[in-house]
Amino acid sequence: MSQHTVLRNRLSQTVASLKPSGIRRFFDLAASMEGVISLGVGEPDFVTPWRVREACISSLERGYTAYTSNAGLLELRKEIHKYLEERFFVSYHPETEMLITVGASEAIDIALRAIIDPGDEVLVVEPCYVSYEPVIRLAGGEPVFLRTNAEQQFKLTPEELEAHISPRTKAIIFCYPNNPTGSTMTAEEWSKLLPVIEKHDLLVISDEIYAELTYGRMHDSIAALPGMKDRTILISGFSKAFAMTGWRLGYVCASPDLLAGMLKIHQYTMLCAPVMAQMAALEALRHGQADMERMVESYRQRRNFVVQGFQDIGLACHEPEGAFYAFPSIRSTGLEAAEFAERLLMEEKVAVVPGDVFGDCGKGHIRCSYATSLEQLQKALERMGRFVQKVSAK
Ligand code: PMP
Repeated sequence: MSQHTVLRNRLSQTVASLKPSGIRRFFDLAASMEGVISLGVGEPDFVTPWRVREACISSLERGYTAYTSNAGLLELRKEIHKYLEERFFVSYHPETEMLITVGASEAIDIALRAIIDPGDEVLVVEPCYVSYEPVIRLAGGEPVFLRTNAEQQFKLTPEELEAHISPRTKAIIFCYPNNPTGSTMTAEEWSKLLPVIEKHDLLVISDEIYAELTYGRMHDSIAALPGMKDRTILISGFSKAFAMTGWRLGYVCASPDLLAGMLKIHQYTMLCAPVMAQMAALEALRHGQADMERMVESYRQRRNFVVQGFQDIGLACHEPEGAFYAFPSIRSTGLEAAEFAERLLMEEKVAVVPGDVFGDCGKGHIRCSYATSLEQLQKALERMGRFVQKVSAK
């Protein structure tokens, strides 16, 4: 047996069987080339607003360098409580129902680990963020995938939900506004799902990291619907709304019993989120509204520009109502999404992500992040137009 084989066998079967992220592969390839316009990464192109950075610097000058309580600074939790009530009409108690995490990423992980017993099924609404499936598997659960489609603007329907419930179903996880489609759900659409959720006593993990990035109406949280607060684990954070991806700060809200379970995992694995990031987040919530609105307005302009642009080059694209992704169909070109993305990168130096990376029902689509300047978007569209014309002519 070679040394290599011995080492590989030390990995758990679960970890050994996880596939590397499909986004990463394209990202790495694009990074190794020159002159690439990347519409691949799901990250704001803005630097964190100055007042937020300054609050962090000032906290360091004042000596805030130690651990905070496991659940995070109470002052920050109180501010989040106020913010969620005012903007989204949900009310989780800052002392017993809220925990500050290392990004929404940690919140997703501890929410799933806190509720999954081996073999439990978790429904995953696709297309979806790439971490849900591996994190469910790492927690010992079985993901069961629910499909959505472009004809229904990638919204979850009660029929699709009901059809996949089994006696082993524990929870459902989704993200609206959605990564990768930009789709949103209205209170009315949520209310159609409630009878099914209640009938089967499901827990709901609602990833609302893009809640601030909506372009028609305010985000409707499922937790705000009657009877839903206690069965909803609400996840959000600062990465997208305040352009704070590198700060690694998020939060999770849930009923006290669930929150206490998550806190146990968090205190043994993370201890607490970084204090300087918490101090910065406090400033973001207290005085960052105008900065945030400025960024959202800019995403809105870019969204309008790319949606029109895709239509002009012959790619059908539903109008995304939230997040900063467009998810055009590339079926008219006759190419599979992976081939489209790979050739577009090699032949025209534009990086996009094949839609099936986010689940089977993303086939025939590509995800394009429009969190980049209008000039770059214009160039990318010119190159994509040339590419579409070339492949469609054959
Ligand atoms: N959920 C979704 C849907 C995301 O797109 C992302 C980041 N791309 C995250 C969670 C993770 O966010 P954070 O930076 O707060 O860990």
